[in-house]
Amino acid sequence: MAGYPDVMDKLVSLCKRRGFIFQSSEIYGGTGSVWDYGPLGVELKKNIKDFWWNAMVRSRDDIEGLDAAILMHPRTWEASGHVAGFTDPLVDCKQCKARFRADKMDPKKLEANVCPNCGNKGTLTEPRLFNLMFKTHMGALEESSSIVYLRPETAQGIFVNFLNVQQSMRQKVPFGIAQIGKAFRNEITPGNFIFRTREFEQMEMQFFVEPGTDMEWFDQWKAKRMQWHFDLGLSPDRLKFHQHDAGELAHYARAAFDVTFDFGGTLGDQEIEGIHNRGDFDLSQHQQYSGKKLEYFDQPNNKRYVPYVIETSVGADRVTLATLVNAYREETVEGESEGRVVLGLKHSIAPIKAAIFPLTKKDGQPEMANRIVDDLRSAFAVDYDETGSIGKRYRRQDEVGTPFCVTIDGQSTSDQTVTVRDRDTLVQDRVDVSQLKGYLAAKLVG
Ligand code: ATP
Repeated sequence: MAGYPDVMDKLVSLCKRRGFIFQSSEIYGGTGSVWDYGPLGVELKKNIKDFWWNAMVRSRDDIEGLDAAILMHPRTWEASGHVAGFTDPLVDCKQCKARFRADKMDPKKLEANVCPNCGNKGTLTEPRLFNLMFKTHMGALEESSSIVYLRPETAQGIFVNFLNVQQSMRQKVPFGIAQIGKAFRNEITPGNFIFRTREFEQMEMQFFVEPGTDMEWFDQWKAKRMQWHFDLGLSPDRLKFHQHDAGELAHYARAAFDVTFDFGGTLGDQEIEGIHNRGDFDLSQHQQYSGKKLEYFDQPNNKRYVPYVIETSVGADRVTLATLVNAYREETVEGESEGRVVLGLKHSIAPIKAAIFPLTKKDGQPEMANRIVDDLRSAFAVDYDETGSIGKRYRRQDEVGTPFCVTIDGQSTSDQTVTVRDRDTLVQDRVDVSQLKGYLAAKLVG
């Protein structure tokens, strides 16, 4: 069976042309694998982050939010194992200068010392371990004692605040802490647009449970997180679980599943989220390195213990890319020679909810359109467009995923009705202006 098509090049170009994503510092030739979100991209990513925050924090009593700093005490990263172990084996080709991760290479090629890029034999260096953390200095002196790291994951900010949150919010185990924030990794082989970048955002939740109940919670979170991806609108056919076997498990993990998404083309199934049973590894390590107790006191049962942790960790950028890939479609329109590109985004994450067009620039139509824009703006992200043919304006909105286009025509100024066109069905309804906000609100739910 043929896989999903490769839409990446088309998406990269759409994202630039329509203000979703630009290469960072483009006028200087770009920064390696760092991207900037433009006006529509920032709305899309924000909507996805809000969708996560609402599901994980706002709709639950047992999860608290947090926004910990990027710069942490350097001992944090010794305790977490990142200073010693957050490394990838790096192989260079002396001939073509290409760089590879030995663990992601074809073992036969590695063994035979054949470069996967230029095909030369005997030109590969021995694998060298390369730490992925970015280092910088805190304070005025650039000496080894002032080294700090840009966090490579947000999770550690949660672990070190475990007791602060538990005690200030009077939470009882089981409960969770969630945060969204930037993370940095000096990846050896970044690429595939925003799939693997050196600066990215994570949405992580650590759920603290009593030892012995951890596998039950792990299974619950596995199911809940998969459901979240369905609810986001990702096609269930493209989503799978990938279980880490013993050899693949990270040093901290007792059990791990990835949620994978089929990006199509040669990229295919790739991890978008990790769900891990971290046991008591992190809290125990921080206890040991800080000398501070990180135990929970279970008052009713009069016992103390270091909780186990179930982690759910999803990349905001990676899931944004999955959302774009999933939503992208090209179609022919009946009765029209030109096809259209549509981003079939779920309504609630579309960057613009409704676009308002006056059919002509005269007869009071722009004024009426602007009054409608002002009225709708308090409720939804809207766009006003009066340039080009109506067909062109529809195409522009389809391409950025706008669910509804509202047109003001000759009839509108006399009978106070407008047409509302649905992005997906192309059906046009005639709606009374006084009913428009309610009409859109009802359709935009979900
Ligand atoms: P990989 O094996 O792809 O490097 P990982 O297993 O190291 O990823 P985790 O440490 O489990 O990833 O991170 C959790 C999530 O953070 C990933 O599922 C992904 O969505 C996101 N993520 C990790 N690294 C990057 C990156 N370099 N760019 C964008 N997102 C990332």
